[in-house]
Amino acid sequence: MAMAYVLLIEHMIAYSKMVHQMQVTEKLTLVSALAASVAHEVRNPMTVVRGFLQLMQKTAQEAHSRHITIAIRELDRMEMIISDYLNFAHPEMEQVEVFDAKKLLDSVGVLMIPYAMMHNAKLVIRGEDYLLVLGDPDKLKQVLINLVKNALESGATEVLLVGTIQKSVIQLVVEDNGSGMNREELKRLGSPFYSTKANGTGLGLMVTFRIVRAMGGSLDFSSQQGAGTRAVMTFPCSE
Ligand code: ADP
Ligand code: MG
Repeated sequence: MAMAYVLLIEHMIAYSKMVHQMQVTEKLTLVSALAASVAHEVRNPMTVVRGFLQLMQKTAQEAHSRHITIAIRELDRMEMIISDYLNFAHPEMEQVEVFDAKKLLDSVGVLMIPYAMMHNAKLVIRGEDYLLVLGDPDKLKQVLINLVKNALESGATEVLLVGTIQKSVIQLVVEDNGSGMNREELKRLGSPFYSTKANGTGLGLMVTFRIVRAMGGSLDFSSQQGAGTRAVMTFPCSE
């Protein structure tokens, strides 16, 4: 009899866990759909505003020019936040192909080296030739940008992005000498909406983990508070 109770209670616990999981999933689906539609609608007018601001800057007097620069910078920040939401809504891979991650590292550099300078930091990128990976190159680019962006936002003065071939896997590492994290903070990485930043979305790493997994890869963080953080990704080598 007692055994039956135990089984019943276990069953009830499992059931309530399942219901909770379903509620979480449902909420996330709803948020995704909302985020995608709002983000999409907001993006177009923003592009128009940015274009006109740039035009005005050409003829603006110095004091105004400074304000316009700030306005453009803030628009760019909005754009980054919106990208986080759009990627959160559509993390699935669109074009799957074998591509050279070395080339991707370079294109991340084009975008992120100026961003690093804005943060008074140095971004160093090193990649072996022919890092052939199977997946969606645009999504992996988003992953690398997310990781480098986080590294820079952690107050790092130096961020390293390195790609190598290790036996039969491709390893991509992002290392920073920023604030680092303690064990509790490390554990929370990738949970939706977990952010310690005033204007963070807490979606970057959630999307990042999802994309890496979808490409058959893995992502592991190690960190030491006050010293820095190391994110290691591995993907099967495609030859
Ligand atoms: P967001 O950047 O919008 O806050 P993320 O999902 O990208 O969201 O990151 C979640 C949180 O993880 C960050 O707010 C930060 O606290 C922590 N974090 C991520 N990467 C690093 C890093 N390289 N160094 C220190 N903290 C980090
Ligand atoms: Mg982030």
